[in-house]
Amino acid sequence: MRAPLVERIAARQSVIGEGLMIRRALPSPGRRMIGAWCFLDHAGPMHYGPNEGLQVGPHPHIGLQTFTWMIEGQVMHRDSLGYEQIIRPQQVNLMTAGRGIVHAEDAVDNQPGTLHAAQLWIALPDAERHREPAFDHYPELPTVTLDNFCFTVLAGDYMGKTSPVKLYSPLLGLDITTSGAANTHLSLQPEFEYGALVLRGQACIAGEPLSPCTLLYLGSQRDQLSLTCDAECQILLLGGEPFQEDILVWWNFVARTQAEIELATTQWNQGHFLVR
Ligand code: MN
Repeated sequence: MRAPLVERIAARQSVIGEGLMIRRALPSPGRRMIGAWCFLDHAGPMHYGPNEGLQVGPHPHIGLQTFTWMIEGQVMHRDSLGYEQIIRPQQVNLMTAGRGIVHAEDAVDNQPGTLHAAQLWIALPDAERHREPAFDHYPELPTVTLDNFCFTVLAGDYMGKTSPVKLYSPLLGLDITTSGAANTHLSLQPEFEYGALVLRGQACIAGEPLSPCTLLYLGSQRDQLSLTCDAECQILLLGGEPFQEDILVWWNFVARTQAEIELATTQWNQGHFLVR
């Protein structure tokens, strides 16, 4: 059997909203997805001044779920279903766009603050992508500790804990934190593909030294993964069954055909995106 893949993927700097610089790890030219995870932005950690926080005005989505994991700071979510929800550290916001939703994400006030967050998109399978839009706030996620690491189960199941986050394909999302030197072997599912992003600090994963700005794609066919940290560190581990459908990602849309993308774009530009 061949050794599992290891690919180092450089996250690219990108600007969201009114000039906030983030690092985008997915999609990248060599790697579009990890399971159904099809987008990964890492924002911060940063301090911002007055009127300099996240300001992402109303914009549409189709065919995906947006999954926000807040590490530091606060962001206000507002959407076309009428939800207004502040997300705080250790919480997840999940917005299921389905056939269409509009949302905005902004710093809670115009005061200076801190921001550290990951925002991911999850492609909806074909049978689910036209469903009614929905929004869910998860104020608390299950945690488990092992070998000096604290694992927060953001999505899927891990070590007997199940995330409450409502998903439509087999996925794993784990936040892994240590306050000092630690090492362990994580149990993995061989049929899943995996990737890891260091959020803070430095780690050695599957023998690869890793710091923020690089996504480590780990392939599938692994039943365990070595993880070593010499000091305080935080890691995002993503996994999932390889997504079997070809998707088209353009702007804020996940679709299957160019015609669908063009229709959604025209509807948005002409002001009748949510009109049925
Ligand atoms: Mn959005």
